[in-house]
Amino acid sequence: MPIRVAIVGSGPSGFYTAEALAKSAADCEIDIIERLPAPHGLIRYGVAPDHQTTKNVSRNFDKTAARDEVQFFGNVEVGRDVCLAELRDMYDAVVLAIGSPEDRTLGIPGEDKQGVIGSAAFVGWYNGHPDFVDLNPDLNSANVCVIGNGNVAIDIARLLVKNRQELAPSDITGDAMETILASAVTDVYMLGRRGPVEAKFTNVELREMGKLEQCVPQIDADVIPDSVPEDLEMSDRDRRLREKNLATLREFVGRPADQLPKRVHFEFYAAPREILGGDKVEGIRLERTQVVDGRAVGTGEYFEIETSLVLPAVGYRSSGMDGIPFDDDNGIVFNDDGRVDDGLYAVGWIKRGPTGVIGTNRPDGQEAAKQILEDIPIGRKPGREALAEVLASNGARVVDYNHWLTLDAYERAQARAGAPREKVVTVAAMLGILDGA
Ligand SMILES: Cc1cc2nc3c(=O)[nH]c(=O)nc-3n(C[C@H](O)[C@H](O)[C@H](O)COP(=O)(O)OP(=O)(O)OC[C@H]3O[C@@H](n4cnc5c(N)ncnc54)[C@H](O)[C@@H]3O)c2cc1C
Repeated sequence: MPIRVAIVGSGPSGFYTAEALAKSAADCEIDIIERLPAPHGLIRYGVAPDHQTTKNVSRNFDKTAARDEVQFFGNVEVGRDVCLAELRDMYDAVVLAIGSPEDRTLGIPGEDKQGVIGSAAFVGWYNGHPDFVDLNPDLNSANVCVIGNGNVAIDIARLLVKNRQELAPSDITGDAMETILASAVTDVYMLGRRGPVEAKFTNVELREMGKLEQCVPQIDADVIPDSVPEDLEMSDRDRRLREKNLATLREFVGRPADQLPKRVHFEFYAAPREILGGDKVEGIRLERTQVVDGRAVGTGEYFEIETSLVLPAVGYRSSGMDGIPFDDDNGIVFNDDGRVDDGLYAVGWIKRGPTGVIGTNRPDGQEAAKQILEDIPIGRKPGREALAEVLASNGARVVDYNHWLTLDAYERAQARAGAPREKVVTVAAMLGILDGA
């Protein structure tokens, strides 16, 4: 009997696990279960819509999905259409690949005010994630504060200041594009608690900020050190990358603020202390910091920025799933290098937390496949057949990979000129298109 494996989640970590199992010499039957009709997790719904080449990796996932051993069960949510305990009864192994879909909070007063929108929601909105189609962000603010010094923060800042020519060839939804283009935004503040040396931007993303058609970067020369301090411990590679970032930031110094109609201000050493206003955001209060032993320590000097929109991009977490041992402090599943319990494994962000790039999930998938094949020499459970029965009896509407390819073709056909696709943004509309197809 084949070893029957259910992978919950069809992001990179889920697909890399399926690929590793399918390419192994073992006889495996692999089912990928995904709560949305569309696969690929954050490649579709997180990666910036104007970074299309990054999304090309999903073509490899199409090849994995086309393999005989692999079947895709889209629009099936574990916890809604089938529960984890049932899955564990049906499959020899279950792999959790459910990611970290929620925002970490800032932990400061006022962050529940209207006008504070976490990056998971904001990025989900412009990327057409069905959970966030109704977000309706109010962009009627000249100043916008993006909190965080990583690539997600820089993606958000960049998209807010691009013009039509720059946005049109992306797969940002038409609605989000028009909302951004009609917005009042002129000044985006990128707020980081620590300094340019500690910032997590990769250099390609940082350099892009200097090449925008209608936005000029602004930075105070005094905050940029001459070089990465010698006594700061890091790999040679990291040191080189950070030196590159410092060089890029130096190129931004002195560009006239009125050179272009919009500005992105790099505000380092600025820790958010309070979101100001009544029910709605009216501003943000920050404290100047200095970095001591790698940590941002307040100096007692405060300043405020007037804004009605604050977008924290300070990391992600999961709140788990019924039936998994959950490490609530870190927002991940308790696991021993991916092993969670007998026949239960974890990969990707739910295993490690929200770090790394798409490719970082590949070794996770390979490791899980290796562990499964070590732990389970032969299959004993019914797998796919039993799942199909439970889903049918629960009235679930399963979207298989061919259905997804139909939706994919539909989206491509609807694309505005120059864009790769126009995303269908609600589950009901996706199912409606399949009914009509
Ligand atoms: C905004 C943003 C931009 C990024 N940009 C880049 C980039 O440019 N380049 C890069 O290399 N990396 C980028 N990354 C990182 C990359 O996206 C992640 O490393 C990767 O997606 C993590 O993979 P994952 O499989 O763990 O999680 P995810 O990609 O989140 O996949 C999890 C999947 O599980 C599904 N799921 C969740 N719960 C259930 C359930 N109960 N039942 C069934 N299915 C479920 C979800 O719908 C989702 O499809 C970015 C991340 C973010 C947040």
